Amino acid sequence: MADKKTKGKALAARMYDALSREFPDSACSLEYDCPQNLAIRGILSAQCTDKRVNITAADLFSKYPDMESIASEDPDVIASVIKPCGLTASKTRSVIAFAKKMTGEWGGRVPDDVELLMEVPGIGRKIANLIVGEVYQIPAVVVDTHCKRVMKRIGITESDDPAKVEKDIMKVFPEDTWIRLGHLSVDLGRKYCTANNPKCDDCPCSSFCAGRK
Ligand code: SF4
Repeated sequence: MADKKTKGKALAARMYDALSREFPDSACSLEYDCPQNLAIRGILSAQCTDKRVNITAADLFSKYPDMESIASEDPDVIASVIKPCGLTASKTRSVIAFAKKMTGEWGGRVPDDVELLMEVPGIGRKIANLIVGEVYQIPAVVVDTHCKRVMKRIGITESDDPAKVEKDIMKVFPEDTWIRLGHLSVDLGRKYCTANNPKCDDCPCSSFCAGRK
């Protein structure tokens, strides 16, 4: 009889296959043209939609095309630009702190190190993993609200704690799937496995999902 880890790996493989077929073009929904722009969009994304972040960040970068101009701007002016993303005070502190790191000790290069990135207030593990995965292709798991929900429903994890969910994912999904898995989970969460009234009958994971309704 297969042990728990073997079963978990089989479930993970089925999930990854099903989602890859359903969402062949799955990708990061935050737009960016350089690593620092992705990091700032990540900061702005807390409790905000990607659509709103993309609009507001485009406005910010049209007014402040480099990190020097953000780092030296009056915080109140930055706050007025990023206000549409909410949590204005904390996001303003984070955006300016990130810009100062970039123009100071990081020498203009976004670090490829999760712990270093997390030195910026407002960059937590989720955003740091997004940056190292997207920018540097270092295998990392982004556990956002969609990922947490779908992984629990399908049966990959029993936890609601993002750090534990991340560990449970890493145990059963191969390393070379981690980056894409985050995007696939978001697609699944948005299209079928919504927080309320999931569309289980149409879901590509319905034949093996533990939480199917
Ligand atoms: S079958 Fe239902 S609960 Fe399971 S992943 Fe799909 S939508 Fe979510």
